Amino acid sequence: MRKEEIRSAGALDYLVFTNLLAPEIVHAFTLRSGGVSFPPYEQLNMGLHVSDRPEAVLENRRRLAAALGYEAAAVVVGEQVHGTKIVQVTSALAGAGHRSLEDAIPTADGLICAEPGIVLMAHAADCTLLYFYDPLERIIGLAHAGWRGAVAQMGPLMIDAFVRLGSRSENIRAALSPSIGPCCYQVGAQVIEKIPAHLQQAVVGRKEGYYYFDLPEFHRLLLLEAGLCAENIVKSSYCTACHTDLFYSYRMSGGRTGRMAGIISMKW
Ligand SMILES: [Zn+2]
Repeated sequence: MRKEEIRSAGALDYLVFTNLLAPEIVHAFTLRSGGVSFPPYEQLNMGLHVSDRPEAVLENRRRLAAALGYEAAAVVVGEQVHGTKIVQVTSALAGAGHRSLEDAIPTADGLICAEPGIVLMAHAADCTLLYFYDPLERIIGLAHAGWRGAVAQMGPLMIDAFVRLGSRSENIRAALSPSIGPCCYQVGAQVIEKIPAHLQQAVVGRKEGYYYFDLPEFHRLLLLEAGLCAENIVKSSYCTACHTDLFYSYRMSGGRTGRMAGIISMKW
């Protein structure tokens, strides 16, 4: 079974994960195509925090909302700081961070929501976005985590948050977005020494004093430890650094580039 597919809405392409496809769920991971941003942010930069023109980002976000059929006013964005704070989003927070950085939910790399009609949005360019859905308890979640968030247990902490709201871990579906792959993610010893000994299979190679780290596989292993079923986890096959025609890559661009967005929402 295919685990992900690229869909198009006009010139705008986005990726969906097959284990999150359900009539009551809207979700997507954006690609670069179909937006109005200029280089080095071309085209569909979704991040307001990268020195792109704000009016271009707002137009790009408007286009995504139109393509997927959700209300821009229902979007909630967290301020991402490579931390592990998780905020439960309610309708009182609708709109936070969507038109301005200033009112994004402070220091919230993880968002969880049990209400329909709210759209969770997060951003990445090489880091992983972790999508969650419990179809029994009807709870969604979205988290941003690179290696810092991963070693700080962002994935398992999201599962803890679901369980506190009534979920059973074996019912939770998860999808791991395109992110920098083991082919391209060269890291130093200061990263590798934070990987627990029993999960060292996520370190896939060593060359000239550097290591190659499989960030999405490390997330997957942590989610398995947290009680998710292997068949409920989809891990994207795309490396963002290998496919800069499709995705923004912080590493490959030298740091000056746009951001993809992940969104997930439950319909009314
Ligand atoms: Zn690669």
